Amino acid sequence: MSQRTRILTEIWGYRGWKVVEVSFEGADGSEVVPISGHVPPGTAVVLRVARTWASRCATCNAIGGACHERLPARRWADLPMSGRPVFIEYAPIRVKCPRCGGRAVERLAWAEPHQRQSRRLQQHVAVDAFSMPLVHVATKYRLSWHTVRRAELDAIRRWELTRKAPALEVVGLDEKYLGRRNRRAERFVTIASNLGTGEPIWIGLGRREATVASFLATLEPATKSGIRVAAMDMHRPFANAIRADPALAHVVIVHDPFHVMKRAGEAMSELRKEVFFRAGAEMRRAGRGTRWLFLRSWERTTEPQKRELRRLFQLNGRLARAYQVVEELRAVLRAPDGPSIRTGLHRILRRTDKRANRPLRALHDSLKAHWNPIVALAEHRPPTGRIEAINNNWEALVRRGRGYRNLDYLLRKLRFISANPVRTGQAVRCFLDLGSAA
Ligand SMILES: [Zn+2]
Repeated sequence: MSQRTRILTEIWGYRGWKVVEVSFEGADGSEVVPISGHVPPGTAVVLRVARTWASRCATCNAIGGACHERLPARRWADLPMSGRPVFIEYAPIRVKCPRCGGRAVERLAWAEPHQRQSRRLQQHVAVDAFSMPLVHVATKYRLSWHTVRRAELDAIRRWELTRKAPALEVVGLDEKYLGRRNRRAERFVTIASNLGTGEPIWIGLGRREATVASFLATLEPATKSGIRVAAMDMHRPFANAIRADPALAHVVIVHDPFHVMKRAGEAMSELRKEVFFRAGAEMRRAGRGTRWLFLRSWERTTEPQKRELRRLFQLNGRLARAYQVVEELRAVLRAPDGPSIRTGLHRILRRTDKRANRPLRALHDSLKAHWNPIVALAEHRPPTGRIEAINNNWEALVRRGRGYRNLDYLLRKLRFISANPVRTGQAVRCFLDLGSAA
């Protein structure tokens, strides 16, 4: 071993392996020869490596199988070194395994079978992609977008293997819009989540009863019997799917406040449109850009926003009354017991039953139709914060990653974001270390 390769072996750092040769390569793959010790920036480092210990079977990890066949040299992208891309080059063997009798390609310290990047590179890519746009990560590591996503998935899978599945007691079912750029015939996906942890556990195209049924089909009977509550929006097919499964007869269905308020917000937006935009130009001007203001709860508005709302309410009494109804509904959903929720809902139904006020009447009808699952909130309150968080993560993911075609990627990435295993410095360290374990 020359001094040069010895030093590189130490820096590269895989026990039982050594660097035997190093060369430099330009972006076009041509060899770059250092001129008076200078290698131009951006030149890639190619480390040709060799095994110093006995081979291991990649299937069963048995040591010392004979060489069955030597394969052609391959390359793996590794972590960059001083800003230069690094490739590991090695010609692996197929091992005649003394234990399992297989002929698998030998175990490599730096990568799992069939991978084209080292484990540690994949972990770094995943940490970066957690907070960086794809284009930054792809440029930083000189990988294609496709490769970044694959590397990220492999890193996330490695992390998933370190955790044990938490018990599933409260299931959340939610439909999500795939975004305008989605080119599928299906515009929606259904996401099932474990509301005990706030993590999504399943994702499927569509939002029909059959969609939920195919999720339920993935659950073991023991898991089903452990489920106490299913929290969902007021989308009828979801409840139907739960009710159609005899193994879930004991499950209580609730409509979580987040989705009930979303429904109320839709009524409010409808009414606002009717009031402002079907009126004259002056009213249209007054109502422009106020949608979000009407959707905000009174306690979350600032003083100037309160003034603006009061001004708008003076223009139209129906809007003021509708806003009051929505605020009242918000309070009712927080009521501590069934009788209080019932009394409150009755009061709201009385205030919304006029057929002339079409949007509020629609809210009236859906509250009435979903009476039991709303009242059930008193006894089985799902964690609204988690439902909201999943919702926000979804929005962020779809906004940033338009064109995600791969539902498996969406699910894993969403779970990764929700569980956030890189919250603290220590946690980032652990996550990156998953890449160095041989
Ligand atoms: Zn083996």
